[in-house]
Amino acid sequence: MPTTIRDVMKVLENVAPPVYQESYDNAGLIVGDPSAEVTGVVCSLDATEEVVAEAAAKGCNLVVAHHPIVFKGLKRLNGSNYVERTVIRAIKEGVAIYAIHTNLDNVYHRGVNAKIAERLGLKNTSILAPKTVGHKLSLRVEAAQAGALQAKLEQAGAQRIYITGGTDRLRLEGYLPDALIGATEALLRSEGINEYELVKVENADAAFGSGMVGELPEAMGEKDFMDYLIERMNAPLIRHTALRNQPVKKVALCGGSGSFLLRKAIACGADVFITGDFKYHEFFDAEGKIVIMDIGHFESEQFTIELLRDIIGENFSTFALHLTGVITNPVNYYHK
Ligand SMILES: [Zn+2]
Repeated sequence: MPTTIRDVMKVLENVAPPVYQESYDNAGLIVGDPSAEVTGVVCSLDATEEVVAEAAAKGCNLVVAHHPIVFKGLKRLNGSNYVERTVIRAIKEGVAIYAIHTNLDNVYHRGVNAKIAERLGLKNTSILAPKTVGHKLSLRVEAAQAGALQAKLEQAGAQRIYITGGTDRLRLEGYLPDALIGATEALLRSEGINEYELVKVENADAAFGSGMVGELPEAMGEKDFMDYLIERMNAPLIRHTALRNQPVKKVALCGGSGSFLLRKAIACGADVFITGDFKYHEFFDAEGKIVIMDIGHFESEQFTIELLRDIIGENFSTFALHLTGVITNPVNYYHK
């Protein structure tokens, strides 16, 4: 059976269900035919015209990107800007564009922020700003049925599903965003399961939300930590607030534009907050309570490309899989 674009989408959406994307987002299949057979995939942070051309040149008909090239409605397609040109090129070349954006930001497991935490070697990680709407599902299930039900629930978008206890009847627990409750209940009924508990959680322990916080295995001096950060995140520089002359142990982070999480980062007692896109006036809000470290939007998310490659590569071996060779970062640095 040939692998279709829809098959690749299913694997990606099992990790980051589209239902987890923010309301302003446009994640999903932006250009292309989901039933087309995949000839090859290029993973990228941005699906620019150059990346589409690269995919075509490599014989790949799918670009999997973090940022959606189209956010708002397009009223015309006459090539007057880079968004229109990219879409036109993609259609002409027969290259599909799939975006996995804030849904990948918002998952605890294998999301954008988990990748940064992994690069930095953080332990005891948790979501910095868990979504406040969600439900905890718990039920008893026959041992023979447990694995298959877990897989189906995960496919439906449930997160952090645990199976515990017993030999014949096991306890299964997981988390759901509110938007998935109806579909999950229907799934359970179709599996013949009528006894389950769904409890609203307010939810410090849920597995979806923004940002991440974790701890370094050992505290570091602030300057040593910044050297480490530059090295691990391949960042040319750090824009930061005043150092506090305190060791760095607890690290809050958010890939991309994370300034909206500063208060959460301070409230959780983090020593530093790593993200991108901080504005001048927003730096003042650190107030000596934390050190903001802005490493750049692209730099903070660039290892997401490897994450996408790994997720796809673990599941398929029948087509070529590439990391883009195009540096899509529109920001350049000049040092005198
Ligand atoms: Zn981003």
